[in-house]
Amino acid sequence: MNLHEYQAKSLLSEFGIPVPSGALIRSADDVGDGARLSASESGRWVVKAQVHSGARGKAGGVRLVGDVAGVSQAASELLGTRLVTTQSGPAGLPVETLLVEPAASIRHEYYLAVTVDRALQRVVMIASSQGGMDIEAVAERHPQSIHRAVVNPTVGLGAYQARELGFSLGLGADQMKAFVSLALKLYRAFTERDAALIEINPLAELADGQLAIVDAKVALDDNAEYRQADWWQRRDVAQEDPAERKAIDHGLNYVSLDGNIACMVNGAGLAMATMDLIQHAGGMPANFLDVGGGTSAAKVTEAFKLILANPRVEAILVNIFGGIVRCDLIAEGIIEAAREVALEVPTVVRLAGTNAEQGRRMLAESGLALTAEDDLAAAANRAVVLANTKREADR
Ligand code: GDP
Ligand code: MN
Repeated sequence: MNLHEYQAKSLLSEFGIPVPSGALIRSADDVGDGARLSASESGRWVVKAQVHSGARGKAGGVRLVGDVAGVSQAASELLGTRLVTTQSGPAGLPVETLLVEPAASIRHEYYLAVTVDRALQRVVMIASSQGGMDIEAVAERHPQSIHRAVVNPTVGLGAYQARELGFSLGLGADQMKAFVSLALKLYRAFTERDAALIEINPLAELADGQLAIVDAKVALDDNAEYRQADWWQRRDVAQEDPAERKAIDHGLNYVSLDGNIACMVNGAGLAMATMDLIQHAGGMPANFLDVGGGTSAAKVTEAFKLILANPRVEAILVNIFGGIVRCDLIAEGIIEAAREVALEVPTVVRLAGTNAEQGRRMLAESGLALTAEDDLAAAANRAVVLANTKREADR
């Protein structure tokens, strides 16, 4: 689960990490005479769209303004719009909240993050002297500026490791103490809050040489929902993909993708393999969808509705291996769903395993235009051919 920047900063402050004092603005009227705003010595503020995306600055979602009138102006321009960033997808994300902070005067931008390195199976802290841009861009343009500390889980991040990172950033002696303290607290926040990512970008060196957190991104591990319930209650569903949100409500594991062939599979590994086969056959998957091991007819119906809500879908590939689940139940769900939604998209069904024969018979007798295939590669090929035929016919 992703947090908003203002939530991320509040989470960090729970661990004694200094963050700017900001005000939340939800309507242009909230700005008023500026009494709500945190005092700004320079008289300048930064107005920041609270959306679940980075790269807001380049998209116009971060505005430096010179006075209270500027805050009002930015608020009226941003609130109620959708911000399209390089990470948001073309529809963008709704701007419902702004964070207004006294503007920092920045001399240099660093990057600092804590995340899990899956290959190493360790928490790693990553630092770079080239902050302010995406870490992917840094990795491409300044790979030598990226430094990592791999954390031994039994002892945690060592102060010596934090100091090494500080040296690699070229910090001065006076900055080192603050940096080490920040790094150790970040690691504590990461582990105690079950985070998947904490990213400070930029960590700024201010005009007076002090280090300051300018932007913060926190993602919590979805498997830790029960341990971090207070944060889950503050989840902003308006920022989430509607289809993915609906899927969560129905206990389905769904990820929207850009392609034309939808798939419905039981089991994450089989779903990945199915997506590979779709690509191999010349199609592009429209989604990842794992209906789970012990799935029901009702769940399959919901899954079908979810798939069909996507207008890009030109064919559907259902791939069920009946190990725990029974294929006749899946067939029942498919038939129910197809009747309910008046299925017009060509659908290829591959059933294998428990009661597969019975399931196939039910589909054949349903009178619905479903294509059955026994072989998975053949099923993927068929789905791609049907999608192409449909596209030709729709022209
Ligand atoms: P992001 O684009 O979503 O990562 O949003 P950030 O909060 O990181 O802001 C983007 C960029 O705007 C930063 O890298 C800074 O260069 C600039 N910026 C943000 N806040 C301030 C501020 O208070 N003062 C100054 N001078 N620049 C800022
Ligand atoms: Mn940033």
